Amino acid sequence: MKPATPPLGASPSQHELQTMAYTDPLTGLGNRYRLRDRVRQLASERADDPAPFTIGIANLDGFKPINDLFGTAAGDEILCQVAHRLKACIPDGATVTRHDGDEFAFILPLVFERGGAEKIGQMMREVLSAPYDLGDRNVRLSASFGFAVYPFAGEEFEDLLKSAETALYRSKRRGRGQITVYSQEIALEMKRATQLEQTLRNAIITDAVDVHFQPIVRISDGVPVGFEALARWIDPDLGFVSPSVFVPLAEERGFIDMLSETLLRKAAEAALSWPRDMFLSFNLSSAQLMDPGTAGNILTILRRVGLDPNRVEMEITETAVMTSADTAHKIIADLRAAGVRISLDDFGTGQSSLGRLRDFTFDKVKIDRAFVSRIATDRASEHIIRAIITMCDGLDLTVVAEGIETDIEAMMLKALGCKLGQGYLFGKPTDAATALAYLESNHPEARLRERME
Ligand code: C2E
Ligand code: MG
Ligand code: MG
Repeated sequence: MKPATPPLGASPSQHELQTMAYTDPLTGLGNRYRLRDRVRQLASERADDPAPFTIGIANLDGFKPINDLFGTAAGDEILCQVAHRLKACIPDGATVTRHDGDEFAFILPLVFERGGAEKIGQMMREVLSAPYDLGDRNVRLSASFGFAVYPFAGEEFEDLLKSAETALYRSKRRGRGQITVYSQEIALEMKRATQLEQTLRNAIITDAVDVHFQPIVRISDGVPVGFEALARWIDPDLGFVSPSVFVPLAEERGFIDMLSETLLRKAAEAALSWPRDMFLSFNLSSAQLMDPGTAGNILTILRRVGLDPNRVEMEITETAVMTSADTAHKIIADLRAAGVRISLDDFGTGQSSLGRLRDFTFDKVKIDRAFVSRIATDRASEHIIRAIITMCDGLDLTVVAEGIETDIEAMMLKALGCKLGQGYLFGKPTDAATALAYLESNHPEARLRERME
């Protein structure tokens, strides 16, 4: 849409200012304000005519690494080519705008329902997947899409946009190049998640979220060397809610810090009663690895509780480290400088390359249960574990095998040279008091102390 001609007498710079305010300087497309105005205009036109229309958002997959690798000039070039392609392929009457970064939006006045939106999404995905010419090289990118149909997905611009963003978020979560249209089911799931969020927030405030401890042992003799802290929540109505449900929810809804701080405080307090040679292993979520304040927060809690950082390990996952590499790097460095060790959780299941992992400094690697539970029955899993152990030996990393449930698994791991293990065979996660009782019968120093008292 052309900006309105300035009234006679208005200074040209004012007109220019107005155009600028609605234009993305890099691509020349309209910006977020253009999108908002166009949606509002369309909605008011459709006020008497109930015909729906659709808005969509496209977000490039893996754009940031390309920007980092080839430089921002190359990144800008790609964004301009994306803008060009989108403009060329959208249907008549549609508008493309650039949000910010690698996100583009479009308004499709003649798309009325899910099927139509999906078709356009597939077409755009195809168009954006062709190689991008950067002069000396070509790169390929995919894009994820989220669509929302007016008025069902929102009558106001902000609500409609939020629905499209929710749909996009779902696409991203499913991997690359996915297309999602905001639907009744998503609306229902969102509603349930919001209810769960409220209940969880209350549980945190009323101190109803607890932390349990699972022993990590020396496989050779079963002596515990540390405990992993695992979040536990039993709601009076909902019953047991798994941390793999409520931790991601707290991340998504932005209160993982609040949850994690409570849990770390409780875990650190419990660890004060353990023999001094035992460590506490605590899970950090991926959102925390994107937050520059994380290292400071952790160290403050440890200081307040009085737990020596040398007795603490933070478990992080490969995927989390890769998502926001620079910030993660800094957090890891700050924690290690204070004496906290870093352990790579669920190893073998994340999205990373060994080459990139080399850029980070870890102390420990935890082999995921997916391999451990198949070690006795599946030759491939055995070979993978053998390779991980050999690699870690060479890199001076301690290996922990997760999810050991049988004697055979433990024996095989021991034979392969794996020093530490964790799993139901040695002990399930239990509350702090039960963990202490466990120590009394399983830790030599705790036993000794008992005899001396
Ligand atoms: P994780 O860090 O890989 O934790 C290990 C999970 O495996 C735990 O599940 C544990 O109970 C389970 N497990 C341990 N041994 C065995 C075994 O022998 N057999 C089987 N079948 N399972 C075993 P849980 O407690 O349900 O936790 C799930 C995930 O939730 C954790 O995976 C971790 O990623 C996350 N999580 C738990 N607590 C916290 C927390 O305080 N903060 C954060 N950020 N994440 C947490
Ligand atoms: Mg863990
Ligand atoms: Mg794990």
